[in-house]
Amino acid sequence: MARIGLLALQGGFAAHAQCLAALGHDCVEVRRPEQLVGLEGLVLPGGESTTQLKLIASAGLGPGLRALVAAGGPVLATCAGLILAARQVQAPQQESFGWLDLTVQRNAHGRQVESFEGWSDRGRKLVFIRAPRIVAVGAAVEVLDTLRGEPILVRQGRVVGACFHPELSDSLGVHELVFGAAVDDRAREVLRPLRLAAEAG
Ligand code: GLN
Repeated sequence: MARIGLLALQGGFAAHAQCLAALGHDCVEVRRPEQLVGLEGLVLPGGESTTQLKLIASAGLGPGLRALVAAGGPVLATCAGLILAARQVQAPQQESFGWLDLTVQRNAHGRQVESFEGWSDRGRKLVFIRAPRIVAVGAAVEVLDTLRGEPILVRQGRVVGACFHPELSDSLGVHELVFGAAVDDRAREVLRPLRLAAEAG
């Protein structure tokens, strides 16, 4: 079991907490710098990246987040989280941490009502909500999955970024890829229906 921090200032963090719990990890919601102490990994959830940036600054979380990622633990950055983790952000340009050497274009698939579900080129279920598009990747970035040939799931070192919302599909695959599983398969079979029931309720 690992202690994984979940940035919980804004956006869709609750479903990530359920995924981490289903894999047997200890999920710590992070709103203040002292909550970063002792963490072994991090999730940056979807939401609204400009708002998240402002809340990170006003909570004084920037230095602690940078230190946690520099320590080398696993990181999963989804959607707005990917925008925060990118080296360069377009449409409009805004600050970012630069943990992933890539350029993202915000809201590149249109407005909220144009959100969609689909399947990746490697057969992964995808939920896109006002998603960013990865428009350029540096040499250090490994593309793990694509949609019609475009990168949508990438890794650089131990930081994994997704344009979509793996926490809203019924698969724990992306979370397990990043953080591993701390429960055996039998325990997971018990936990998964509980998680799905919690989501439905
Ligand atoms: N459109 C959002 C942004 O630019 C990201 C959307 C999401 O996280 N679902 O921050």
